[in-house]
Amino acid sequence: RESALYCVGCGVPLQAADPKQPGYVPEKVLAEAEQDAVCQRCFRIRHYNEVAPVVQDPGYYEDLLQRIADTDSLVVQVVDLFDFDGSWIPDLPRWIGENPLLLIANKIDLFPRSVRHGRIREWVRRSAERLGANPVDIVLCSAAKGIYIREVMAAIERYRQGRDVYVVGVTNVGKSTLINRLLHDFGDGGQPITTSPYPGTTLDTIRIPLEDGRTLIDTPGIVRKDRLSEWVSPADLKVIVPKGTINPRVYQLNDRQTLFLGGLARVDFIKGPRQPFVLYVSNALYIHRTKYEKADEIQRAHLGELLTPPEDPSVLPPWRKQRFHIAGGGKQDLVIAGLGWIAVGKEAADIEVWVPEGIQVELRPSVI
Ligand code: GDP
Repeated sequence: RESALYCVGCGVPLQAADPKQPGYVPEKVLAEAEQDAVCQRCFRIRHYNEVAPVVQDPGYYEDLLQRIADTDSLVVQVVDLFDFDGSWIPDLPRWIGENPLLLIANKIDLFPRSVRHGRIREWVRRSAERLGANPVDIVLCSAAKGIYIREVMAAIERYRQGRDVYVVGVTNVGKSTLINRLLHDFGDGGQPITTSPYPGTTLDTIRIPLEDGRTLIDTPGIVRKDRLSEWVSPADLKVIVPKGTINPRVYQLNDRQTLFLGGLARVDFIKGPRQPFVLYVSNALYIHRTKYEKADEIQRAHLGELLTPPEDPSVLPPWRKQRFHIAGGGKQDLVIAGLGWIAVGKEAADIEVWVPEGIQVELRPSVI
């Protein structure tokens, strides 16, 4: 049944007969629709960030990746430059089989302008190699700021060579934001490309038709629980996910001094000469510096109050401590997955890091 109403998003007549055809809205919605109605597809596009599906169960996700391995396609992994290791899909190269991998490294806008993109790209290449991947190419971009989006699209076109494209990524890397960008920038004549749910499966996969009859398939995000960003409330997430260029915060520390990163991590400088600790975390995150001797008491008294986020510490596992020995004489990043990193290593140092149990903390070669 066609109506006299047109979708304000794509201009086609609204209809309630066939969900697979343009202009579809459910009968009930159509009955109540007015002049400013949008069809279900345009609704999806507009509200993409809210409806983008997420998978919690790793086994289920592996099944999905396994299915990609059985296709002949280009796999595009979106990673978060702010949380490279934490945003990597574990064992990705193994899962995608023979298919080529294109790496899109998002959130380039977070880096200070002084950092050369060529350097970051090279660092991404080495990091991917360390994780066992050999991507056909690496493209840096900022989905949110619209930087290098054309390059992303060009790379997808170049490497897919007439094949379907699967876009994969863990949650919070900006995959939805990027797909939204591509939909709007490269849709037909400025119109967004329509999307529809993948028919015949329970996976909420979103399929976007490409010009040559092929399809770009956006897969659900997988949750990695070893990142702090996956544990906190939406309000806390606003504080810890950086929104713009990170201003590195430099602390000249003596040994036996402690930094609290909100109430989400604690860094004790146990032993070593006075030296800089440079924090690359969200500008909105409160850092509390104190003497090591006082740290336990402050933690007991102020976690969830002075030391926030989290607004509610009980949602997180209890803290566990890990010890790191920094050799000195060269910069390294101490990375706390989902929160950021601390550049250390001007001098030798023994450092203890407290984070909620299960959160990944590791040393890596310095990115900046
Ligand atoms: P998804 O879970 O991978 O689909 O991620 P979203 O698209 O929902 O984005 C997760 C968070 O990262 C949101 O707070 C976005 O605003 C933010 N974000 C996405 N792209 C960028 C970017 O290019 N730069 C910055 N700074 N933030 C971004």
